[in-house]
Amino acid sequence: MTLQGRTALVTGASRGIGAAIARRLAADGATVAVNYSGSRSAAEALVAEIVGQGARAVALQADVSDPSACTTLVESTIAEFGRLDILVNNAGITRDGLLVRMSDDDWDAVIRTNLGGVFAMTRAAARPMMKARSGCIVNITSVVGMMGNAGQANYSAAKAGVIGLTKTTARELASRSVRCNAVAPGFIATDMTSKLSDEQRDAIATQIALGRLGSADDVASAVAFLCSDDASYVTGQILAVDGGMTFA
Ligand code: NAP
Repeated sequence: MTLQGRTALVTGASRGIGAAIARRLAADGATVAVNYSGSRSAAEALVAEIVGQGARAVALQADVSDPSACTTLVESTIAEFGRLDILVNNAGITRDGLLVRMSDDDWDAVIRTNLGGVFAMTRAAARPMMKARSGCIVNITSVVGMMGNAGQANYSAAKAGVIGLTKTTARELASRSVRCNAVAPGFIATDMTSKLSDEQRDAIATQIALGRLGSADDVASAVAFLCSDDASYVTGQILAVDGGMTFA
């Protein structure tokens, strides 16, 4: 129970990687705020599951692409549980397409959600964490933020932006003992990657040293480590959880 007594807020925790992170942080002893955008029943079912296992949790709706909703989300978490120790910026979307055909709307939606959301959530959480002189922020970026990916100009630009934002946040908040790191997943089996055909999946697996797609739990384990005191001397780092897809 490495996170006993801590309160965590996980964005986009109704499904996929975010849900696995919320489950894992609760299993490690944290009280968890489960943010969702549209999937209310999935978020409430996850909260019931966590509460059933003896931890505290609440589902909070907010669209992270709306900066004022981010401020309210942080305030609601603190109002509910009295503190905020851990922020995991996980919420993300894709609107894929080749860049010559990409619409302004698809560009804007992904940048606003995947990069703007991380900025607005971090800005809202930074003040209470700095005041408490402790805190931990983990951003979920992607290996495509480092490598690029055909068909994902918007997504890879947003994820690269999250890497720069992570390092800047780490530098600005370190003097108040607030750490900020990022996890960069490779290909993880979730709704986001479910549209891939078996053929595409097999082709991807050949690019991965460990020979398989990752699971949401693989990502959650890395996040749990970065949130724990075992990582108390780790800040400003980007940890790839990609089965050895990108190492040099
Ligand atoms: P997913 O299965 O599609 O789930 C996305 C989650 O984000 C859902 O809980 C969704 O909530 C939430 N969300 C979307 N837009 C939101 C918004 N505007 N405000 C609040 N929540 C919002 O995706 P995933 O695969 O778990 O991905 C999670 C994170 O990992 C994302 O940042 C993604 O970019 C990153 N990632 C994924 C992979 C992969 O292979 N899957 C690889 C690298 C990085 P609702 O259902 O309520 O809308």
